[in-house]
Amino acid sequence: MNLIDLHCDTLWKLMDLGGEGDLLENDGSVSIRKLEEEGALAQFFACFVYRDAMEGNTPEEQYEAGYRHVLDMIDHMSRQAERYSGRLELAKKPEDIEIIQKKGKTGAVLTVEEGGVLNGSLARLDELYRRGVRLITLLWNYENCIGAPGSRVPSNMEKGLTPFGIRVVERMNELGMIVDVSHAADGVFWDVIKRSRRPVAATHSNCRALADHPRNLTDEMLRALGEQGGVAGLNFYGPFLGTPEESRLEEMTAHVLHMIETGGEDLPAIGTDFDGFDGLKRMDIPDTGHMDRLREALKKAGLSERQLDKVWYKNALRVWKER
Ligand SMILES: [Zn+2]
Repeated sequence: MNLIDLHCDTLWKLMDLGGEGDLLENDGSVSIRKLEEEGALAQFFACFVYRDAMEGNTPEEQYEAGYRHVLDMIDHMSRQAERYSGRLELAKKPEDIEIIQKKGKTGAVLTVEEGGVLNGSLARLDELYRRGVRLITLLWNYENCIGAPGSRVPSNMEKGLTPFGIRVVERMNELGMIVDVSHAADGVFWDVIKRSRRPVAATHSNCRALADHPRNLTDEMLRALGEQGGVAGLNFYGPFLGTPEESRLEEMTAHVLHMIETGGEDLPAIGTDFDGFDGLKRMDIPDTGHMDRLREALKKAGLSERQLDKVWYKNALRVWKER
């Protein structure tokens, strides 16, 4: 019921792996039908760019191609929203979400994963906003014009925002876009916390205390996020849960409980990362249509209905509202 999932790579899967795939029904984990089965409020759809899959001889050229690819993904999503206009609608502001629900439809929010596509241009950030993008995941797994990604190499993990990255955070604050620190180096995370005047999201990152991975957040980071009104979205990928080959309810529950203990009940949200990974031997929640299993497990673990609603949608919605 009422789920807001802050991160999926379904658009990437539809376009890069399956041509111009369809959102109503597909063989991935997220579709309009599955969102309806869950009774979802909104799904955030990432326009994800895998730099090394882009044409070009230098990172800059690849990011140029990546930017064009993002625009193609936005167009594809817009066409899908038009085709299924009776069931899906793009949300441009948080207030839209409840209005869309009242019309009996599911909300969709556009995001970009890999801020490198800005390629040093703030005008490009404004352009993405005009086209409906409301959240940007600053980093992916490459160093870019904004900063450096999470890494096991300490000197890389300490790298912070570049001067351009600082201006990106400031401009995103002005525009009311959500700054997403998932994938960022710890140094970038702390720079963003220091600089952002708005709540920050780590849309698809878990707890490093339970699964020691640079993609996850330390207790100190969870506390800082909680204190500044931000959210951390529970990621279903096995290695980030601490079970490399499996994605199980047991660990998902443990990560949510740890987030609450460390950063408070206003911290956890959901950021499944559906369609951004595969190859696991076991997935307790294979798709959006089976999210009730997690809600049930969290309930059994002792979460109240109030807390469940926060995890399911209220925390995510709050972060967008306090943009
Ligand atoms: Zn990601």
